[in-house]
Amino acid sequence: MASHALAQMLDELMGKDRNLAPTEKRDQVHWSDPDVCKHFLVNFCPHELFTNTRADLGPCTKLHDEALRKEYTKSSKSGKMGYEDDFLRFLQGLISDVEKRIRRGHQRLALNNSQGSLSSNLNSLKDDKIKMLTERIADLVQQAEELGCEGKVEEAQGMMKLCDQLEEERRDLESSKLQQQSNEPEKTMEVCQVCGALLVVGDVQQRIDEHLMGKQHAGLC
Ligand SMILES: [Zn+2]
Ligand SMILES: [Zn+2]
Repeated sequence: MASHALAQMLDELMGKDRNLAPTEKRDQVHWSDPDVCKHFLVNFCPHELFTNTRADLGPCTKLHDEALRKEYTKSSKSGKMGYEDDFLRFLQGLISDVEKRIRRGHQRLALNNSQGSLSSNLNSLKDDKIKMLTERIADLVQQAEELGCEGKVEEAQGMMKLCDQLEEERRDLESSKLQQQSNEPEKTMEVCQVCGALLVVGDVQQRIDEHLMGKQHAGLC
């Protein structure tokens, strides 16, 4: 791929026929040849837009040649070949892909949020149960004390045993609550309306700048 990219760069700079003798040049390739990139003739090749981003289209397999572009622009057939329409259609396709990505991002965030509220509902259920257990334990301790005062030692011990069980149950609930909290993402995300990337709300300025100047975003502005 590196050598392909290098060859393509040389093609763009010096023409596809750079390795041919001067007498053979030019009439070898015509701008209408199937392996000439028509997007490049018309304006620019979209394959070069998002290189090394998630939206990377991969390298263009067709020929980009500045000299052919000049020939096409000067030609009487320029603008009459449907290349411009194809180019716009291709770009519209890219834009609708981005719109899909933005929609998917929103759906993913909505899912995350609903999972978040589910687990916070679960936590508040656990809070209720913990409160109930605490009250129950306090009751039992008081009863055990009363039984102890009345000399009913065995019954008092039975009560305290029950207390221990309830306290253990309460500890389990509390620790499961803590685990759940640490699993929750503490960052709020939003979808970039331009390129569809997921961004952290209130992120540090440096990362915001990096995103705005990144190819995926800047390529769509
Ligand atoms: Zn191309
Ligand atoms: Zn963006």
